[in-house]
Amino acid sequence: MHALLVALASTVIINAQVADGTGAPLQRANVRITDDRIAAIGDFKPAAADRVIDAEGLVLAPGFIDIHNHSTEGLERDPLATTQIAQGITTVLLGADGDSPWPIGSWLEARRRQPVSFNLAVTVGHATVREQIMHADFRRVARPTEISAMARLVEQGMSEGAIGLSSGLEYDVASYSNTDEMVAVATAAAKHNGFYMTHIRDEADRAFPALEEVIAIGERAHIPIEHSHIKLGTVSVWNKADEYVRMIETARRNGVDYLADCYPYDAWYSTIKVLVPDKEYESPESVQEALDDVGGPGNVTIANFAPNKRYEQQTIAQLALVEQMDPVQMFIKIVREGNAAKDDAMVIAKSMTEADIELFYKQPWVMVSSDGGIDMAHPRGAGTFPRVLGRFVREKHWLTLPDAVRKMTSLPAQRMGLRDRGTLREGTFADLVLFDPQTVIDRATFAKPQELPVGIQIVFVNGEIVWNDGRPTGSKPGRVLTH
Ligand SMILES: [Zn+2]
Repeated sequence: MHALLVALASTVIINAQVADGTGAPLQRANVRITDDRIAAIGDFKPAAADRVIDAEGLVLAPGFIDIHNHSTEGLERDPLATTQIAQGITTVLLGADGDSPWPIGSWLEARRRQPVSFNLAVTVGHATVREQIMHADFRRVARPTEISAMARLVEQGMSEGAIGLSSGLEYDVASYSNTDEMVAVATAAAKHNGFYMTHIRDEADRAFPALEEVIAIGERAHIPIEHSHIKLGTVSVWNKADEYVRMIETARRNGVDYLADCYPYDAWYSTIKVLVPDKEYESPESVQEALDDVGGPGNVTIANFAPNKRYEQQTIAQLALVEQMDPVQMFIKIVREGNAAKDDAMVIAKSMTEADIELFYKQPWVMVSSDGGIDMAHPRGAGTFPRVLGRFVREKHWLTLPDAVRKMTSLPAQRMGLRDRGTLREGTFADLVLFDPQTVIDRATFAKPQELPVGIQIVFVNGEIVWNDGRPTGSKPGRVLTH
């Protein structure tokens, strides 16, 4: 009896405007889900036994695929991943920025035993394998024997189920690598049909040489590139996205399979001290340079500061005016007050210009990613996908809705090598999002980064509903995806 019921269990979504993930125009259709797959799309009538969902006025799209997601730590604590499925995310790629679980095989096995609400895949992290080989002695160029050993570990990770190699060349462990090392490990990943996903060496003043390096790695290792959270992060490179795009277009014409992803925010959130790279927080010269890098004291807002709540929600420029002091001295005063209370101020600082974000988003090879995840302290962790649909599509008209959906579905699926996900057609897995294009919007802010978006009505993962009517259903149908 039970088996029979399962075999017959069909859900039919009627009257939906289907965005199929390819970028094709919306098309009105009914969609039948049987077990974990799309069984039919078209103008058919539901049968009497079918469960029917009327999607009048709603858009039905493939589930969103987040190619840069930091939920690794949160999976066990929060397997329903509310902030993720509430955005329509149905698949995530973990292990970004060079930092992955290890060993890959046993970690994936644990994920299979404890499924969560969404599907997941993983990359092998370059810094992770570098540390396996060099241990604490990583602050130098690696020897040829060490590089070969790293390449072997990358191959091991790939054969245990990783789908690519990630790097974070701006971070401590990887920052000591040179290009030859990266070519060697990327070549190892390419042997197993992997791609190279990279947080490049510099997203600020040296963003252009860093881009040249990625292109060289793609050419020399013959590996597809995923440029993580593409960004021009300081004043000296602001508004140069056209030049950046031209360099990438040239590489693409020369045969490099180059894609990138971009999160839809123009600011970062961290401690006030992060602004000062040389760590001379009380040096007027260093502080002046730090403020110049982000476009001046008007671009730094104190978000949280328990020792002096009066500063919150004010920019350093505003505070300097009130206190009648130079912005540099104001900055130093806030640092000192934080030191005295052992509680540094948290700031929101401008990282990108809107013009650069718009230009990146308009490139057909740029997809949406969150760089967020469960428990992220930045609003991108709970807001990214609805933000693009609400602000970039509906309000600013930067993108058409089908194009935005493509950047959330088939484009990441293409890079990840997922053949049966990311497009809505007969036979693919029923990872689906039903949303209201008139109301969908993010609500997460720097003050309330976990605030859930609105307008995402129903989310299916492998044919099961995980999100409905503003809350998780408790289902955990997510799978581990490998090549
Ligand atoms: Zn990163």
